[in-house]
Amino acid sequence: MRQVELIGVAKSYGEGPPAVARSDFSVEKGEFFSLLGPSGCGKSTTLRMIAGFVAPSSGTIRLGGEDVTALPPERRAIGIVFQNYAIFPHMTVAQNIGYGLKLRKHDKATIAAAVGRALEQVGLVGYENRSPSQLSGGEQQRVALARVIVLEPRLLLLDEPLSALDKRLRDEMRVWLKRLQHELGITTIYVTHDQDEALSLSDRIAVMSKGVVQQIGTPAEIYERP
Ligand code: ADP
Ligand code: ADP
Repeated sequence: MRQVELIGVAKSYGEGPPAVARSDFSVEKGEFFSLLGPSGCGKSTTLRMIAGFVAPSSGTIRLGGEDVTALPPERRAIGIVFQNYAIFPHMTVAQNIGYGLKLRKHDKATIAAAVGRALEQVGLVGYENRSPSQLSGGEQQRVALARVIVLEPRLLLLDEPLSALDKRLRDEMRVWLKRLQHELGITTIYVTHDQDEALSLSDRIAVMSKGVVQQIGTPAEIYERP
């Protein structure tokens, strides 16, 4: 089943060539799909259009078969994690993870159970009452992930989530991302300029250059004809 579909999606910010020129691709339910390409090729713009932060100049975006092109971000049921995790420094780990459910007025027992499950999923059991400042960058990024997956989004968007981390933490986070993907099977679109990351994590990869999707394939297919 197609969970995400982009049909003729394009975005121009003003004069000059478009940031994204007519993009067509779809992502299957449960798939880990990467947008790979150098800085400035239009990856973030594509992700922001899917999230609803940027309106396409033309084209249609469907989520689970529903046309969401005109829906505001908060009505798309999408979870997003950015490079610079925006976790709240004054809240504990558990409060950070439970915050979205609290805003949605879930009761305390439901929130506590969901927070507990999310802590297990990202390997942070025992960290519930810590402050973010007591955590490593990788652990903070796992809190950011937990805070999003606890809301059970129908799509997870990850925008260069590892690029602020050093090599060792990046490798550690890759393992966590793979495990999460395996356990939860959340449909994920992953933006990166790092070919190794895309090859090691993805079911399929869309290679972008200058606003255009150049090719789409499995890691083996992309690796064989770079
Ligand atoms: P990437 O994520 O691959 O680095 P972006 O989608 O951020 O690429 O950018 C694609 C192009 O659009 C770049 O040329 C960039 O300068 C331009 N761009 C991105 N955001 C804006 C904006 N808000 N206003 C004007 N131009 C932008
Ligand atoms: P408040 O008292 O303002 O409701 P809390 O400090 O209780 O805020 O925490 C916010 C949410 O995080 C709560 O709904 C709670 O269920 C969850 N939470 C807090 N501490 C823990 C913990 N140690 N383990 C699991 N969940 C927790």
